[in-house]
Amino acid sequence: MLRTAISLVLILFVVVCGSVVSGHFWAGEKEQMPESITVTVSKGMTVAEFGRKYNLGRKELKKIFNLTSRNDLERQVDDFGMSYELLSKKVDGVLAIQAEHASKNWFKIPLKGGLWVIFLSAVFTLLRKGKISARNRKWIYMAAVGIFGILLGSDPSPMGTVKDAIVLLGLKGVVFPPRLIALGIFLLMVVLANKFICSWGCQIGTLQDLVFRLNRDSKDIRTLFGQIKIPFIVSNSSRILFFLLLTFVAFIWATDIVGVIDPFKLFKPQVIGMTGGLFVALLLVLSLFVYRPWCHFFCPFGLVGWLAEKISIFRIKVDYDKCVSCGVCSQACPSTVMDAILKQDRIVPDCFSCGTCMEVCPANAISFEYGKRPRPPVGKFSERVVSNMEQ
Ligand code: SF4
Ligand code: SF4
Repeated sequence: MLRTAISLVLILFVVVCGSVVSGHFWAGEKEQMPESITVTVSKGMTVAEFGRKYNLGRKELKKIFNLTSRNDLERQVDDFGMSYELLSKKVDGVLAIQAEHASKNWFKIPLKGGLWVIFLSAVFTLLRKGKISARNRKWIYMAAVGIFGILLGSDPSPMGTVKDAIVLLGLKGVVFPPRLIALGIFLLMVVLANKFICSWGCQIGTLQDLVFRLNRDSKDIRTLFGQIKIPFIVSNSSRILFFLLLTFVAFIWATDIVGVIDPFKLFKPQVIGMTGGLFVALLLVLSLFVYRPWCHFFCPFGLVGWLAEKISIFRIKVDYDKCVSCGVCSQACPSTVMDAILKQDRIVPDCFSCGTCMEVCPANAISFEYGKRPRPPVGKFSERVVSNMEQ
């Protein structure tokens, strides 16, 4: 118990201190949504004058007024027949996109993307070969947290692509195209190899997984101080409700409800705040006992990724000719998903492709393969094979 507690504190310490240092290195990123403005237009004001007043370049003015030629810059704003309310909304949207663009580090983003591709390809190869073990799993999680969290910071993240897109659309009525591109790439990764970006690349996902494994024996099968497998109906209902609430509040009250508790800010401690800090601390303590609580209960990308993983090309599969129905995989799986996969339930929870089931199967019947999962022979799992972690 003491060893686990010390390890958790040590991990937190390294994450916070390392992130503070690397935050200085990436200094200059300031994410702040500009305040909404109400424009005022004086009599006879031209588009060019309007642009100068609100610091808008030609590109932005073109978007707002649908300009077709340079001469349009000399036309009067009132000639465009736009209500001031609509004009304010359009200017607001354009300024929000400008602020988004300015807040991004355009050196770091492609660097992180490239490293993700290299790192995930290496882990994919290991998983395909069945070479992920209890020992190296922890090292891989540590490397993921170190590179994609501590060194490269909280942004971008898989969650941010969904959450920030909803918030920006709700608050300012605009979309930031680079974010949609990133979301598309992350979803492609989910579809290619079952949730791989969450499993092995997400800063917060891998951190929770690392903490969860601190409370397991050296073979990563049994819990040391008790772990709970929450029924999927409970966790997924919470995640769906949270997603709806996030969207509703963003569109109706123009507020970002994730902002104050965003766990990714752990990698940007300067902005986390007291509530956020307490929330992340609680989340990590909970991660000792419940598998990836943020992913299962709250994460918007977790929900979208869960839907996308239904069409994954590579996924955990069971060879029922070899399977001896011992249930060891279900017992070792951190959540209820292996039980659902084994019996091919209609609703299969998130599988984080951690490879634990593959490693512990005594019949070597589980692999990370492409194609559909086969159905189990009738009667093979008439009894519930899943064993609770408490046993
Ligand atoms: S579900 Fe978990 S791993 Fe995936 S993006 Fe969300 S926090 Fe990261
Ligand atoms: S079924 Fe469970 S143990 Fe197997 S890879 Fe998925 S999450 Fe891990």
